[in-house]
Amino acid sequence: MPEIAGPAAAALSSLCPDDVIFLRSLPKAELHAHLNGSIPIKTILELAQEHSHYSALTPEVAETIERLRSGVILNEIFDFFPLFPAIYALTSTPEAVAISTRAVLQSFLNPASDGAENPQCAYLELRTTPRATKYMMRERYLTVVLDEIEMYPATQAALIVSVDRRMSDLDVEECVRLAIEMKNNGRRVVGIDVCGNPRKGDMQPFTRHLSRAKGAGLGLTVHIAESTENTTEDSLALLSCRPDRLGHATFLSDELKALFFADIPQPGTECSLLSECPCIEICLSSNLLCKTVASLDAHHIRYYLKNDHPIVICTDDTLPFRTSCLGEYAMLLAQPPLGLGLSRDDVARVARMGMDAAFLRPHHD
Ligand code: 5GP
Repeated sequence: MPEIAGPAAAALSSLCPDDVIFLRSLPKAELHAHLNGSIPIKTILELAQEHSHYSALTPEVAETIERLRSGVILNEIFDFFPLFPAIYALTSTPEAVAISTRAVLQSFLNPASDGAENPQCAYLELRTTPRATKYMMRERYLTVVLDEIEMYPATQAALIVSVDRRMSDLDVEECVRLAIEMKNNGRRVVGIDVCGNPRKGDMQPFTRHLSRAKGAGLGLTVHIAESTENTTEDSLALLSCRPDRLGHATFLSDELKALFFADIPQPGTECSLLSECPCIEICLSSNLLCKTVASLDAHHIRYYLKNDHPIVICTDDTLPFRTSCLGEYAMLLAQPPLGLGLSRDDVARVARMGMDAAFLRPHHD
């Protein structure tokens, strides 16, 4: 179990031991975790140590590692993305990718060393952006990650292939093609994700690749309306591909919700464009620490809970956000202002919704 800090730790430490036992025992699905954002700090430090043997760490890399170790403070969401080049400098070889993936899987799926019987989550859909470096091609990167994921049973772990908003058309095409080919070859790829700096990229050209992925039987999740700078056109392009799940959706307008979510009433019209309700991947600590929401009280999770819309509670990036599945669930159960003050029954219902939103379900196979 990772060491946690910040809002998740505050919520968890406010709970009585019985509540913690209850939360630990709930089967949870982690459906929004970025591989390179979830590497345990211990593994990062070990990789940095090794790295320093063959090439000195640049001052920028060393500084970011120190920030990750001592606790990152962000002024806004756009300060978050510059953390990744340093992490990528440590995970550029197939060996380092294997070590990192193994450590991430263990942290989510192996019972904790602190004596707790339950792992952080019962089921993990880990996502990662296939990276070509001077040591490997994208295909090798994915193979290394899948080799580690498939050490676990299919009921426990699967892979979502991310495409980054900054990618060229050719790069997106390659990532989606690899995902489809690997799935068709029996590898455990279950979905496609669109991620990366919300300021970057035009989503319109992505749509034909995303629709192709859906047509090939892959689940689709997209980071959407994550910042106030994301335009309606940006969200419309992503929603036109009929995603099964939405990452964050913090600033999705009421008009778009009414148009695309079958469970939200649409004044004056008789049908909605979507017949299903895409599940919203909620990352409470991430949103608070990136300052895209001012407080838990103002968090969009309240809207979705009130409308009984499917949600799943996720960690996003446990490394910079210093959280865990348990910590995020603690924020549901803790009393305000540290948490939302939900009842145990409601928290159990939210956990079940998460399990139901997994891509690896019989009708997706
Ligand atoms: P990776 O895909 O390399 O395993 O994980 C790190 C990448 O995930 C980052 O470079 C970034 O593109 C993406 N990512 C991680 N967290 C977030 C987030 O909260 N929002 C968005 N849009 N992208 C993220």
